[in-house]
Amino acid sequence: MSFSVHGLSVGRGLGGGVAIGRAVRVLSSRANVAHYFITPDQAPAEVQRVRTARNVVVEELQRLQLSLSDHVNKDAPHELSAIMDVHLMLLQDDTLAEGVRHYIEERHYNAEWALTTQLEVIAEQFDAMHDSYMRERKGDLEQVVERVLKQLQGSAQLTAANQANHESLILVAHDLSPADMIRFKSDVFSGFVTDVGGKTSHTAIVARSMGIPAIVGAKSASQLVRQDDWVIVDADAGVLIVNPTDRILAQYRQKQTDGLAAWHEHLASESRDIKQSAPLLAPDGTAITLLANIELPGDTAAALAAGAQGIGLFRTEFLFMGRAILPDEEEQYAAYSEVVVAMKGMPVTIRTIDIGADKPLDPSHGQEYGVHTNPALGLRAIRWCLAEPAMFLTQLRALLRAAVHGRIEVLIPMLAHEGEIKQCLLMVDRARTQLDAVGVAYGEIGLGAMIEVPAAALIVPTFLKYFDFLSIGSNDLIQYTLAVDRTDETVAHLYDGNHPAVQFLIESTIKQSIAAGKSISVCGEMAGDESHTQALLAMGLRSFSMHPSQMASFKKFARQ
Ligand code: PEP
Ligand code: MG
Repeated sequence: MSFSVHGLSVGRGLGGGVAIGRAVRVLSSRANVAHYFITPDQAPAEVQRVRTARNVVVEELQRLQLSLSDHVNKDAPHELSAIMDVHLMLLQDDTLAEGVRHYIEERHYNAEWALTTQLEVIAEQFDAMHDSYMRERKGDLEQVVERVLKQLQGSAQLTAANQANHESLILVAHDLSPADMIRFKSDVFSGFVTDVGGKTSHTAIVARSMGIPAIVGAKSASQLVRQDDWVIVDADAGVLIVNPTDRILAQYRQKQTDGLAAWHEHLASESRDIKQSAPLLAPDGTAITLLANIELPGDTAAALAAGAQGIGLFRTEFLFMGRAILPDEEEQYAAYSEVVVAMKGMPVTIRTIDIGADKPLDPSHGQEYGVHTNPALGLRAIRWCLAEPAMFLTQLRALLRAAVHGRIEVLIPMLAHEGEIKQCLLMVDRARTQLDAVGVAYGEIGLGAMIEVPAAALIVPTFLKYFDFLSIGSNDLIQYTLAVDRTDETVAHLYDGNHPAVQFLIESTIKQSIAAGKSISVCGEMAGDESHTQALLAMGLRSFSMHPSQMASFKKFARQ
């Protein structure tokens, strides 16, 4: 079959079917801008909001220019003044204002979104210029737009309009952090494409949990796609088609409709499944427990709707990412309590902060991704917690207090040394002592460890001596066993859960835990991946923790 399309890119599809829509290119540095639709009658106020912000920046720059002309050193100010001129000219240029007005009035984008969209449009024009001086002016434009965005931050945001009335939009970016992805959970996009990223990077994990079509590692997609291009995201095949012909579009619309029909049938059979309380059984007749992985307390609704029998992994670091001020004990107590209360007595496993590597804190905390040569081998997860005892104790106190509403299983990530285990136990004791000292009530917790470093998998008896339960983090166990960065698409073909070394570590961990009478589950992506289900069941695993969006097809597969 011959294609006649503007462009085609291939990446790693995360599943979720087909999405068709207009491309919204976002620079990762501006991904924290809110994206929502406004109603048509809100447009004049939104246009005014941008105009006011721009005027403030114009006045600021003019004042700065004036102060430079008074400066004693006449040489440097002359150059600076010329830069100010360029900035003022770019800011007051009609192309910027008209484009922003277009996106607000015609597309109903909120002000910040309209501004960054028009910035991308003009930036593309600068990129295409032959004159290198003009090409370099793109940087100036980005600087002035950043200033206007800062000004806009303070002004009131409108209530988002109903997304259903708007055309479908696909977000295309070079890279997105997991924190950006979490923000997009409540945004307007129906599909995601990034140039970089592996299938089990945290960005991909959050995208998958949203259950919408997404492709990572699509190499140069963000260069191939222009703002507003029509794109097709086939997330099952990992294919991105840019500006498709009518014939290809029709074929994919059909595929999308078929997929939706199958999905609705899926949901109907799932709800029949949920109502029918028949337990999920392994071939030997023993029960299989299905637990949910969540990132935010609000995700418990999806977990319950999918029929989860508890929470197997609450990744609490998502409460901490993208925040200049980290959550205090009260805020954490409220978040953990919300999950325990929502799950109505079902098991709730909450993992302590797994910050670091591809899940950095806000740069204001001085812990930027890539600062160290090998961040995945650095101060991550429990290592960071033990290096920041005040932070760790705050989280432990919040967890202990939330356990008043129901038992919590506290899960510690990335342990490898017996010394670390002992330190953790001491910290839990200290948190209890601190609560006793101020007379604050707390409840009962269980303590578990993630097995996600090969060293841990090789000394399982040591872990079983100290912990009530274990949970296998297959994402990291594969990464660390095979020395393959899970976020690097250039080595993604070597990231293999079927590798005999990985299988050996998983099997021996499961068997030793069962023999010791301790509970064991898998909470990495492997748990929801049907290609691994039979092998895991054969190893004796009966507890699987996965995204709520994967439960329906897992159940169907397991019943077969
Ligand atoms: C894992 O490593 O498998 C896991 C569940 O933890 P995370 O994906 O958050 O690193
Ligand atoms: Mg992990």
